[in-house]
Amino acid sequence: MNQDTRAGQDAPPDYGDWEPVIGLEVHAQLLTESKLFCGCSASFGAAPNSHTCPVCMGFPGVLPVLNERALELSLRTSVATGCRIPPVARWARKNYFYPDLPKGFQVSMFDEPLAVEGFVEIDTPEGLKSVRLTRIHMEEDAGKSIHDAHEAHSLVDLNRTGVPLMEIVSEPDMSSAAEAVAYLRALRSILLYLEVCDGNMDEGSFRCDANVSVRRLGATELTTRTETKNMNSFRSVERAIDFEIRRQIELVGDGGRVTQETRSWDADRGRSTPMRSKEHAHDYRYFPEPDLLPLETSQERVEALRAELPELPRARRARFVSQYGLPEYDAEVLTARRDLGDYFEAAVAVHDSAKSISNWVMGDVLRLVREGRLDGALVIQKWPVSADHLAQLVQLIDDSTISGKIAKTVFDEMHQSGDAPGDIVERKGLRQVTDQSAITAAVDSVLEQQPDKVAEYHGGKDKLIGFFVGQVMKATGGKANPKAVNEILRARLAKP
Ligand SMILES: [Zn+2]
Repeated sequence: MNQDTRAGQDAPPDYGDWEPVIGLEVHAQLLTESKLFCGCSASFGAAPNSHTCPVCMGFPGVLPVLNERALELSLRTSVATGCRIPPVARWARKNYFYPDLPKGFQVSMFDEPLAVEGFVEIDTPEGLKSVRLTRIHMEEDAGKSIHDAHEAHSLVDLNRTGVPLMEIVSEPDMSSAAEAVAYLRALRSILLYLEVCDGNMDEGSFRCDANVSVRRLGATELTTRTETKNMNSFRSVERAIDFEIRRQIELVGDGGRVTQETRSWDADRGRSTPMRSKEHAHDYRYFPEPDLLPLETSQERVEALRAELPELPRARRARFVSQYGLPEYDAEVLTARRDLGDYFEAAVAVHDSAKSISNWVMGDVLRLVREGRLDGALVIQKWPVSADHLAQLVQLIDDSTISGKIAKTVFDEMHQSGDAPGDIVERKGLRQVTDQSAITAAVDSVLEQQPDKVAEYHGGKDKLIGFFVGQVMKATGGKANPKAVNEILRARLAKP
């Protein structure tokens, strides 16, 4: 899991005398139990059409009832991203025909969105950059058409119809694919901290469309832009945007014109292809939704939400550096996910050894999180090695009860059994041997068995000390304190 929110760690891409102009539209599925306007479950992966009812299937005469929780989560996001929240937002119908949209319209927001004028900060090689947010609005998701399950016809699954989404639209403030990804990572991290979205790109609960255009360096006019869809990983987003930038530069450089269109990214082929000509807002015949009241948000509610905000990733990152003395890199990895940062802090509270604990979390803990495919959701709390146990393990190393090498074995055992490290060390007899006489006996026995090597050592082959240390460690099952072994060996070998 690379959670780097910095842009352009590698050499910046060379676009010659062209400047890319990139804006992103992110759709984030809100973490609610039920759909936006009915009581159906909003969860992913159920049998097709099992999460449906007359409301989300758009039967005549049904009326929507707003999911208050979805509004709460959207407002929380708006406040956390510094948006201005107008006193009134209005629902609007976005009309279009598609088989997976049974009502023939999507309930969304148009000219009176929930929130406007926010920002998300990213790091770039030139320093801090603030990417402006145009707006945040709420809308319901459409269903899913399935074209490859049946030879003769297409199928439709309406489980997703009516699932609550938040659309977060940025200004075209990004000027490279790397910046776009940095923005996306920073935004996803914020949503994870706010616990408003699970951020899962595989399952599409966090997805983005990229609006890309190019212009000559220094030019200010906006040029024709395209929209690219169907990117389901950060890597795909970066490749798709870079592909589109280069395609447009080549096209315009050859005297051609960019067509306003929606393109679909094909990760396997590493290219995008046109899907349809891009529609304009007026094609949708937006009009106010007559079945839902306008949303009124009081200033008191905004202030209450602001007061309840958790510490956000950037602030926490800075605090991890100042409070725990961690390197920037560690702080960035540990704070990319709220639960990971919580886990780290819980461990440090038990045993104050921040850098060692950080190394374990970034190494073995994240390895297991990846292997267990736990990185999509906020589930690290359920992970079998508790923060408490990890802290105890580091303490056992710090007080020389076990060596760092043995600790790896203990860690794997902790993961398997869920037992405390101290219990495992006792049960398996892994306690480090620091007893001088026991180590001396092992040293003497090794030297006795290797008279030739001892002679070579005395003949000037100093490097053999490593060989002897290895033999003693082997004889003691890896449990001897390596420092003590070294000292005793040198003392014994000094005597001719
Ligand atoms: Zn329903």
